Amino acid sequence: MSPQLILLGAPGSGKGTQAKRLVDNHGYTHVSTGDLLRSEIKKGSDLGNKVQSIMDSGNLVDDHTVLELLNANCSLSENQYIFDGYPRNFEQAKALDSDVLKGSTSKAVYFDIDLEILIARIVNRRVAPGSGEIYNLLTKPPRKPGFCDVSGEELVHRKDDNEDTVRNRMEVFKDNIDPVLEYYESADRLIRVDASLSSDEVYTQLLKII
Ligand code: AMP
Repeated sequence: MSPQLILLGAPGSGKGTQAKRLVDNHGYTHVSTGDLLRSEIKKGSDLGNKVQSIMDSGNLVDDHTVLELLNANCSLSENQYIFDGYPRNFEQAKALDSDVLKGSTSKAVYFDIDLEILIARIVNRRVAPGSGEIYNLLTKPPRKPGFCDVSGEELVHRKDDNEDTVRNRMEVFKDNIDPVLEYYESADRLIRVDASLSSDEVYTQLLKII
């Protein structure tokens, strides 16, 4: 049985794009804490209202809230998951093992890439919330500007994908990632992929892992 996959990497490092390919071709279920939080905001729930300004600023939502949301949306006995955007810090890495995975076999994959490259990537990112397709105005533009090739829906520029917020998100990432990598490395569960390569090449690296 394939391991549960934990995707680690800075915003824009390609985790979401690769997760989508693994879901489409290998039966994985994608769970992204960023998507779960955005859906709470869209619903206008109390939780959504509480986290909106934190997300707009690029800071992290508190560990307890995110863990509860993740647990409420995961059923490990029935699914093979790709965890995307969780864990973001050492405490979350420990909580994922103790409260969610509970001994289930898992591997952590680090999408290794220079952070400066990413800022340009993210500022040019456009997403289709319905189909989950992700575009880049420079490297992967949609055929019809502003609209998804697959669903035809209008593309969205995420509110937190503007340059100021992105720079803060990168700082938050840099401040938190090292202990997370050490946590998985010391348990021999960490695999690094070169995320500066093309999407196809990164995907080939991932296929070797699963
Ligand atoms: P993402 O879609 O993964 O880039 O996440 C967007 C935003 O959601 C982040 O900048 C955080 O504000 C929040 N967020 C997502 N996942 C987490 C997490 N695991 N812990 C705390 N905040 C999170």
